[in-house]
Amino acid sequence: MDLTHVEDDLELDQTLFTEEQIVSRLKEMAADIERDYEGKDILLVGVLKGAVMVMADLARSLDRHVEMDWMAVSSYGSGTKSSGVVRILKDLDTDLQGRHVLIVEDIIDTGLTLSWLITNLRSRGPASVEIATLLRKPEAQQMEVEVKYVGFDIPNAFVVGYGLDYNEQYRNLRCIGTLSPHVYS
Ligand code: 5GP
Repeated sequence: MDLTHVEDDLELDQTLFTEEQIVSRLKEMAADIERDYEGKDILLVGVLKGAVMVMADLARSLDRHVEMDWMAVSSYGSGTKSSGVVRILKDLDTDLQGRHVLIVEDIIDTGLTLSWLITNLRSRGPASVEIATLLRKPEAQQMEVEVKYVGFDIPNAFVVGYGLDYNEQYRNLRCIGTLSPHVYS
């Protein structure tokens, strides 16, 4: 689905990223990852459902073998903010012992979910755990956890598209945009 199908729902003057901009940035991130992981195996761990598109394009931009696995987590929170208390809905199929794990995320907001996830994955004996995210909001920049690969730092607005949803919609939008208030008010 492209912008023409939902343009009334988005703040068009604030459309953040086109599909071309996203894919081009992911290619740059893939080049960094290839350089950093030369001679090492990589297990990409995607966090469902938002990271599906990022995983698909990032993984295909890597000119080398990688493995992929998926986790689904639910974060208990009040309103729109997560609390950092997380429940695993779908766990990994892969044993992480000795593996180089790269978590693939769509967006980091408070970073609470991710902090929990890193602690959980590190307890499984991997050789390393790093993070790649397409988008990062301001609060996440104060996180103690270092995010090694960041696509774009964005302002504090609610964005949809390219895997990111509002009420399970807009995930299949090719670009990323800010929702107009009339959609949720
Ligand atoms: P955190 O624990 O970092 O606050 O929560 C991150 C999760 O909140 C993301 O994986 C995503 O599901 C959701 N989220 C945070 N900001 C946005 C946003 O702007 N748009 C959408 N669609 N989801 C968001």
